[in-house]
Amino acid sequence: MYLTRLLYCSERNAEVDLDIEQLLYSARDYNGRSNITGALWFDGTYFVQVLEGGRQVVSETYHRIAKDPRHHSIEIVSCEMVDARLFHQWRMAYFADTADNRSLVLKYSGQDKLIPSNMSSASLLHVLAEGNLLGD
Ligand code: FAD
Repeated sequence: MYLTRLLYCSERNAEVDLDIEQLLYSARDYNGRSNITGALWFDGTYFVQVLEGGRQVVSETYHRIAKDPRHHSIEIVSCEMVDARLFHQWRMAYFADTADNRSLVLKYSGQDKLIPSNMSSASLLHVLAEGNLLGD
């Protein structure tokens, strides 16, 4: 069961209701039971999510999330075997578009608005790993 880290990005589907607190509640419940850890960025437009765990469970979870009608244009940014988790303390850390996080986005990209297609997987991971949490 190799430890795997999958990073993807997607866009909110404005035609489907989204309650981010409810989404995080059920994601954390499921992830806690599956030993998945990770982080979710949501700024009202883009999602960026990291899933870490055993390869099979990360794969199953990603495919379930990818079918979710609350987002679209889902792209895998990277998927790799890793030696250690970056987000081992969080069943799903949550980051939003706060002033502090915009400053962090500016550190790792050409502007302070996070545009996933303009950022490398390493820069996206840095933003999530160093971001100011809104909860775990
Ligand atoms: P069910 O709860 O049986 O739902 C059936 C269908 O409805 C599925 O297609 C489901 O995607 C969709 N659905 C469920 N709730 C809603 C709702 N409130 N509004 C609209 N459609 C809905 N799940 C995790 O376990 N771990 C995660 O880390 C995680 N991260 C997510 C990140 C994002 C950006 C999104 C959009 C979803 C995430 N989810 C996560 C939720 C995941 O997509 C599933 O909804 C959830 O795991 C329940 O799966 P289920 O098969 O039991 O679906």
